[in-house]
Amino acid sequence: MTTNNGLLIVLSGPSGSGKDSLLQQVIARGEEIALSISLTTRKPRPGELDGVHYHFTTHAKFEQKLANGAILEHTMYNGEYYGTPKDAVDAQLAAGNTVVLEIEVEGAASIAAQYPDCVRVFLVPPSLAVLRQRLIDRRTNTPEDIERRIAIAREELTHAPGFDYIIRNCVLADAAADFQAIIRAEMLKDKTILTR
Ligand code: 5GP
Repeated sequence: MTTNNGLLIVLSGPSGSGKDSLLQQVIARGEEIALSISLTTRKPRPGELDGVHYHFTTHAKFEQKLANGAILEHTMYNGEYYGTPKDAVDAQLAAGNTVVLEIEVEGAASIAAQYPDCVRVFLVPPSLAVLRQRLIDRRTNTPEDIERRIAIAREELTHAPGFDYIIRNCVLADAAADFQAIIRAEMLKDKTILTR
């Protein structure tokens, strides 16, 4: 919990664990959170909009932003760049908003090093079999892509114990309520209330 700034929450979990759906559910339940929109060089999936789901960009432009220091953290995932824009996150935090970064585990570690007060949440799928089925049901990943994402998921799950909170996503509404409980608990750690 930061003192004068907003709360920074990092949400990690394997691709297909339901991070997007969880956050949409949390917003639908009235929670005021600002979602950071990442930059990526991967191609948009059907239905994904530039500037809404991601800022879709080229490798050259991504590398230029990296060189300019405009990217807070980045990773190479499945052969594509993904990164968090620095200015947008810092502006939201300075405005006192709760900001959520939906990023993979390497990025989570980098953010924790730069923002020691951030809260790290890991979303676990009910099982790898369920995860595989969710990736198949998306109908936007090739079979090879699904197998690569499952292999990455196995590795990512080994990092879960290092997170502050772990949510198992069996029933989405329950997982969303758990996420809101975390926000509430973290807000209640704010000791600046005593000096106001
Ligand atoms: P997807 O291709 O499924 O949208 O994302 C692949 C993985 O990259 C997911 O685990 C997602 O959370 C992660 N990711 C998305 N944006 C970022 C980012 O800005 N930084 C990092 N480190 N990971 C990201």
